[in-house]
Amino acid sequence: MQQFIDKYDFTGKKAIVRVDFNVPLNENFEITDDTRIRRAMPTLKKVLAEGGSVIIMSHLGRPKKVDPKFSLKHIVGRVSECLGVPVQFADDCMKAKPQADALKPGEALLLENLRYYAEEEGKPRGLAEDATDEEKKAAKKVVKESQKEFVKTLASYADCYINDAFGTAHRAHGSTALIAEYFPNDKMFGYLMEGEIKAIDNVLKNAERPLTAIIGGSKVSSKLAVLKNLVGKVDNLIIGGGMGYTFIKALGGHIGQSLHEDDLMPDALEILNTAKEKGVNVSLSVATVCGQAFDNDTPRQIFDIYNIPDEWEGMDASPASLENWRKIILASKTILWNGPVGVFELPNFAKGTLQIAEDLAEATKNGAYTLVGGGDSVAAVTQMGYADKVSYVSTGGGAMLEAIEGKILPGIAAIQD
Ligand code: AMP
Repeated sequence: MQQFIDKYDFTGKKAIVRVDFNVPLNENFEITDDTRIRRAMPTLKKVLAEGGSVIIMSHLGRPKKVDPKFSLKHIVGRVSECLGVPVQFADDCMKAKPQADALKPGEALLLENLRYYAEEEGKPRGLAEDATDEEKKAAKKVVKESQKEFVKTLASYADCYINDAFGTAHRAHGSTALIAEYFPNDKMFGYLMEGEIKAIDNVLKNAERPLTAIIGGSKVSSKLAVLKNLVGKVDNLIIGGGMGYTFIKALGGHIGQSLHEDDLMPDALEILNTAKEKGVNVSLSVATVCGQAFDNDTPRQIFDIYNIPDEWEGMDASPASLENWRKIILASKTILWNGPVGVFELPNFAKGTLQIAEDLAEATKNGAYTLVGGGDSVAAVTQMGYADKVSYVSTGGGAMLEAIEGKILPGIAAIQD
């Protein structure tokens, strides 16, 4: 039975909390962006303030064995600073029982990187490259068996379990999903997870209409499932960025050197057909800012998107396309944005993406619900200073993408079941 963090009484309780502290570190192991640490604070502070104690667990990077480069000890100082209490450190997440047992109300313990153990992901490691299918299967069986002990050990540290790691909610790992079964009546989402789940529901379940999705980014292939799910749900589908050229080519356009995927043209046409059948308004780019090379200082020129000369490449949305999209955005009550509409990393080709961020901010001010989720659009709104001018910016790239593909995320299901 799912509990709710607001109603749960943590007095005297030990909570094991899965957070996503997978923060970027520089070569001196200093944190370059502590957003993920700060976003988990409301949950951790709530437990401590009520006289509970926290056992904090996370992964960092993708170590395949114990590797000091990926040690969570690099972040203990910052976690202590943010939390306002000294944070103890357990340098082996499987040997932390004495430290967990000794925790007093108001105290915090951070466990070493969960992914030092193959059991966290439940995937075998160190298999020979030429391993047969039989060998792979046998190795998987072994790790799955030892995963039970791994999860049981983590669960033995605490009285209740909180999942506040949206960034890994799409993974059925030991600490993100399997551990929940040890806390049938004492498992819950943290505040960050609750916020993310509500944001997804606001768009996919309870959207006020018109509902518009703006999907950009580089490739159709990485967003195909997103497009297929959304085309049955939205009123307007704006398709921009690199992926737009596959649609234009599929419709008979001449796209010069622009990014495209020939093998996905049939899927692009299928999406357009489905949209037509369902009465969904699809808005593609009409003209595009092109460059002659993938470079910030390359000459720029705007061309009709169906007639891009051979030596030019589409790299940003044009004012004409942006004007069409602005009208749609400002007439919408709910808007989801995933993926930049141009090569926003190059300042000369960032105007389109900046304009979308501005339009979303204006729509939000006018009362629309706006969610920016998944990958580079989050980086774009943050970088451009619009993160607090939209309704919600998701913290989970892959997890948000899978949620908008319509998938049930294991980390969410494990708590709700
Ligand atoms: P994604 O991770 O799929 O959201 O894609 C984000 C990437 O798409 C960013 O790195 C953008 O530079 C890239 N992108 C957007 N528009 C274009 C374009 N017209 N040509 C090439 N890349 C693009």
